[in-house]
Formats: sequence, C-alpha cells, structure tokens
Amino acid sequence: MAQRQTASYLNERFAAAGLRPLTRFGQNFLIDLNLLDLIARSAEMRPDDVILEVGTGMGSLTTRLAEAAGAVVTVEIDDNLADLSQDELQQYPNVKQLHCDALKNKHTLAPELMDSVREGLSRLGEKARFMLVANLPYNIATPLISNLLAGDPPPDRMVVTIQKEMADRIIATPGSKDYGALSVWVQAQCRAEVVRVMSPKVFWPQPKVESAILRIDLQPQRRGAIADLKFFHQTVRALFFHRRKLLRSVTCSAFKGRLSKAEVDQTLEQAGYSGSERTEQLTVEQIITLTEHLRQAVTK
Ligand code: SAM
Repeated sequence: MAQRQTASYLNERFAAAGLRPLTRFGQNFLIDLNLLDLIARSAEMRPDDVILEVGTGMGSLTTRLAEAAGAVVTVEIDDNLADLSQDELQQYPNVKQLHCDALKNKHTLAPELMDSVREGLSRLGEKARFMLVANLPYNIATPLISNLLAGDPPPDRMVVTIQKEMADRIIATPGSKDYGALSVWVQAQCRAEVVRVMSPKVFWPQPKVESAILRIDLQPQRRGAIADLKFFHQTVRALFFHRRKLLRSVTCSAFKGRLSKAEVDQTLEQAGYSGSERTEQLTVEQIITLTEHLRQAVTK
C-alpha cells in the first residue's frame, strides 16, 4: 500500500523523532495524495523501468514508484530522513536506498547514483528504460536536470516537481524573458510540458512560491544530431552569459583565445548572421546550427 502522507502524519512523525523540516535541504513534502498519484501516473512506468528518485524524504513517492517500476534508486542527503524512510521502505525489495548528496559538485552527479541505475538497467534487460521521477529539492533541481542530460545514459523521461519559475524557464520560447541556456539545453534534446501548476498549499511546510509538475521526454534523434554535447552545452551557456550583448560580442568573449575576431565574423557570416542579433532571439534549431559552425571553426 502506498503511504498516505498527510500534514498530520508528517507532523506526528517529525514530532515523535524530535525533528523539524530543514529549509536548507528544500524539505517541502507533498501532502496532496492525488498529486503524488499524478506524478507517478504521469511517468507511465513499466515493470522493466529503473527509476531514480532524488530526495526520498519519508518515502511517500518512493512507495508509489516501487509499486509500478522494476527498480527504484532513491537518494537522501539527510541522516534522520534516511533512517526514517528506511523503516517505510524495507518491505520493498526493488528499492535501493542511497544515503548521500545527489551531486558530487555543481557539474557532477554523485557516481553511486548512475552506478546503481546502470546496474538496474542491465539486470532488467534490453527494454529497460531509465527515468527520473521526483519531488526535487529546489536548490539542486537545475544542476541535477542539466547534468543528467549530459550523462550516459540520459533519462528517457523525467517527471519532476520543481519551482514554477524554473519550469517556465525550461519551456520558454525565443524572445521571452525566461528563454535562456537552460531552455535551449533541454529543448535541444527533449520535449517538455507542464503537467500541473501547484499552489504552495499542497506542501508541508508551505514554500513561498508556486510549483509545477514538469514532464520532460527525451528525443533520441534530436540528441543524436548534436555532434558534440559537451561543446554544445558549454557554448550555449557562454552565448547566454551576457544576455543583452550582441551576438558578435558574446561570441568573441566566448571563444577568446580560440577564434580571432575575423574568424568569428567569418563563422557568423557563414551561419547567416550579421553579428548584430541577440542570442535570445535565436530559435533552438538556429542555436544548434550556429554551435556546429563554431565547433567546426575551432576544430579546423
Ligand atoms: N520525496 C519526498 C516527498 O515528495 O515528500 C521529499 C521531497 S523534498 C521536496 C526534497 C528531499 O530531498 C528532502 O527529503 C531533502 O532532505 C532531500 N535532499 C535535499 N538536498 C539533497 C541532495 N543534495 N541530495 C539528496 N537529497 C537531497
């Protein structure tokens, strides 16, 4: 039976253990059971899927994942919650609990996460898929999603609860204030849609901002068409670093020491730009093509 995580349940469990939810770990627990079910349902899990959950908390989402998927790897940073959730989860033999920080550093996942995911994938066979399904701690949501998309294998799907503002940035379109490196990095490889916007009231304790459930589906052909993912990721970040500067100027800064100004001008011209455009006006496709021109220019 999936756990019934409500405000009174959490209040009692925390009080009995002498604990308080920690803001620094983004401990806002989802107390609307329908929304916990919606997250699990939106992932459309199969019995041969391997699910990574970041932030076990009290295990309320974990139990739902364990019931639908072949294997769950769940990670929790907080010592007390790791202990408490162990009691909840011991009846699920397909759940592997890791007790560590999900990130080794800003740009790197903790290696044991993907080691456990790979182990699950090889055990569950050729058709096994990898997904991230989680009510994410907000302070690590961006590096986590970005790093997973740079990894091998990337998740086939991600269904995550994040700040609405971050969901807006991921799905943003060219020219809007939210459009930036994160939008391009995700949309260049995936299709992303907001499943539900959620009021702070559905969490205990309540956060200050709205949240959203976002579903991100990998598009393997799109990802495969990017010649060098690492170069693409770095270039996209550099091109958006000074949002208001013109394309010629941001490209010169981004490739200082690697391309002369004349080479930048020539590459932009070949790609069809005068240099007086702004990165934020370019579509995802245009940025993919421009990055490929720049890659060829620096590797010449
Ligand atoms: N999954 C639970 C739920 O839905 O109620 C808890 C979600 S809560 C938003 C986020 C959880 O992530 C907390 O339990 C917190 O302690 C944990 N956490 C925060 N930072 C973490 C990190 N860097 N690595 C692993 N877990 C982390």
